[in-house]
Amino acid sequence: MPINILIAGPPGAGKGTQCERIVKEFGVVHISTGDLLRQEKADKTPLGLSAAEYMSKGALVPDELVIAMVKARFEKPDVKAKGWLLDGFPRSRPQADAMVQQGIIPDLFILLAVPDEALVVRICGRRTDPVTGIIYHDTFKPCTDPEILARLETRADDTKEALEKRLVGYHQHIAAIRDCYKAMTVEVDGNRTPDAVAAEVLGAIRKKQKGSSSCCCNIRPFHLAFLAFFFAPVFANLLKA
Ligand code: AMP
Repeated sequence: MPINILIAGPPGAGKGTQCERIVKEFGVVHISTGDLLRQEKADKTPLGLSAAEYMSKGALVPDELVIAMVKARFEKPDVKAKGWLLDGFPRSRPQADAMVQQGIIPDLFILLAVPDEALVVRICGRRTDPVTGIIYHDTFKPCTDPEILARLETRADDTKEALEKRLVGYHQHIAAIRDCYKAMTVEVDGNRTPDAVAAEVLGAIRKKQKGSSSCCCNIRPFHLAFLAFFFAPVFANLLKA
């Protein structure tokens, strides 16, 4: 059975890195609303043009636009066949309610926790290669190739001013949606190396997958032993009769 995962965390928490690893191991479809919106913006679609104004200020794009975009993405067949990893959505209670209405329910909600102070350093220094999509960082992952270095871009909302606004928005949105996923939440300390975080994240997903397969059809030897013990007297009586 494909697994369906929701991941959340403040901007700069390392969701991109963890998502790459999750996709690599579990083959799920990564759906990032930030990436979808940036693509719409690059393609200069009506949605992209309306969204650009909100995005550059670090503000949320209106719910109705994002909900329609996510709904359309979930209608594609790859999502059902491979399972999904939803990143950046829901970010408000109406978005969470829309998910429930569409029957989009995660098996696991991974919440990456990183203190705000650590995020400023992580975000202000982040540069993206527009050709490969690889994200570098001036301090933590410097680019050494002069050709790539020359074309690196900074996201319009990766500034200290926009980050402050995005963090206020993040704390509001996480408070609004947290309760919806209480039963399936795994909170992971994201203020560690990517490898340490990945070990915990991937471990939690493996555990969840194992749990769901064993609860429905994985009959184990002790189950058979229990059935044999329970039904043996019944069969013995039937044979006697
Ligand atoms: P992200 O890459 O997830 O940090 O998203 C970048 C920007 O896209 C955000 O700051 C918002 O302006 C917009 N955005 C992404 N996802 C959503 C969403 N679920 N609801 C509203 N706006 C969003």
